[in-house]
Amino acid sequence: MAEPTRNPLRVVIVGAGFCGLTAAIECHLRGMHAILIEAYSGPSSHGDLLDFVRNAGRVFESWADGKISRRLMAAGVNSAKHLEFYNAQNQLLRRDPWPQATDPDCVYAGHRGEMHRIVYEYAVEIGVDMRFGQRVAEYLDTDTERGVLLQSGEKILGEVVLACDGPRSLARAQLLHLPESRVNSGYAIFRAYFNITEEMRGLPAFGEMIQDGDDSVRFWVGRDMHGFIYTWNHGRDCAWVLTHLDDADIAETWSFPAKKVDVSSYLHSVHFPPIWHEVLQATPAERIIDYKLVWRDPIPTWLSSSKRCAVMGDAAHCHLPTSAQGACQAVEDAVTAAICLQKCGGDVAAGLQVFERMRFNRSHVIHQASILTRNVYHKNEWTPEMVRRFPDSLVIPFYPWITEFDVFANAEEHWERLLADVRSGKKGSLEGLALPAGGDYEAMRVGEGEGAVDGVARGDSDQLVRVQS
Ligand SMILES: Cc1cc2nc3c(=O)[nH]c(=O)nc-3n(C[C@H](O)[C@H](O)[C@H](O)COP(=O)(O)OP(=O)(O)OC[C@H]3O[C@@H](n4cnc5c(N)ncnc54)[C@H](O)[C@@H]3O)c2cc1C
Repeated sequence: MAEPTRNPLRVVIVGAGFCGLTAAIECHLRGMHAILIEAYSGPSSHGDLLDFVRNAGRVFESWADGKISRRLMAAGVNSAKHLEFYNAQNQLLRRDPWPQATDPDCVYAGHRGEMHRIVYEYAVEIGVDMRFGQRVAEYLDTDTERGVLLQSGEKILGEVVLACDGPRSLARAQLLHLPESRVNSGYAIFRAYFNITEEMRGLPAFGEMIQDGDDSVRFWVGRDMHGFIYTWNHGRDCAWVLTHLDDADIAETWSFPAKKVDVSSYLHSVHFPPIWHEVLQATPAERIIDYKLVWRDPIPTWLSSSKRCAVMGDAAHCHLPTSAQGACQAVEDAVTAAICLQKCGGDVAAGLQVFERMRFNRSHVIHQASILTRNVYHKNEWTPEMVRRFPDSLVIPFYPWITEFDVFANAEEHWERLLADVRSGKKGSLEGLALPAGGDYEAMRVGEGEGAVDGVARGDSDQLVRVQS
């Protein structure tokens, strides 16, 4: 990586989620002056479980000679052997090796807050310039000023702005001039994370999940509902998530305390098995939240008109959890932007256009497929027989074109050609100028007729745009 130069590029980064933190670390490691601004006062400790697979995991693995990856591994679900799929009748549908059991490198599942703290602490260790407890009130993108105005009145200026400000992005409105396009996806997710007490350990549900002290991961699917239960840390931690239909009208807030009676009613309506009721009853009431799943269609460009400011991560593509890739794609965005800014030799506008062309179609197809995946889970009557007929459908879609993607190699391979396209003013739509997505979700499709899913599974972004939530 480049040695720091005397006048490093000043990169103003907004939002210290996994996207902004990774962007700040990667820019810093590449000799730029990254200034990371975050509204919260410290690293986020909230959340339940998050999986990073190889495409993002290789980024963490590349830091500090593997030290960060070892920390992430130690904190996560690292002794599960299988991922088991069940239907609502509790019939075992399939048993896949748990990715960390077969592929311990670069695959991490753990408590979101814990993993976030590990990445944050690495940013502190290497000296990233971070300003927590500061909210951006305004993005500045004029000929004379580029950066942000904080609520405190302070201006932070730079040569480039990376807006990693999440699903409720202010940058989408202020830098891209997009109207608010939030729509209720029609689903919400009950989420809980808690410590398993000695008393809970005596319950049959936990006895079943915590066998031999191993971690366990189980997935249940029913009509319009699916959920995971995880236990890890030698049977000391539990998290569960339950995606369910929801017709509530979402306003500004979309995370609410949930009532057990409501969760229970959903479990009954889809006839989920007793293990779910037992785990629900054991869960401390205050640990359950109902998180409304918001959908936003893909946006036509990620760059401001100056081409010196970009939105990235959930601000550009707010995934539903069923893609299992939102944070991974955010990490890929962050690394690609840092590489392009390092390579652009100060021509930030060209660098960010190449960045966008590297990311657009891949991210777009994976983002859109979160709807297809959910429908495949929810709109079929899953039985062992059905799984035998369509063995590639009831899966977590970790296809090799997604997980084996090497974000570093990809940027190196395509930089020169895409830069030449930008500099020569090559004409075309962004989809046409950008790298192809690299794959599709065709394998998930469940045949024709009863229970078939209509969603388009091809890696053709024009088609995918028409998939309806
Ligand atoms: C239930 C659930 C499960 C999921 N599971 C997975 C999974 O297993 N694997 C996976 O890859 N993805 C998963 N995802 C998706 C993943 O969590 C997100 O895609 C990812 O965290 C987005 O990261 P981000 O940094 O882009 O945004 P965020 O994490 O939302 O970060 C944005 C940051 O910007 C800050 N901010 C916003 N506005 C301002 C402002 N004006 N000034 C200063 N700071 C500001 C916010 O405070 C926040 O910290 C899941 C999502 C959900 C909801």
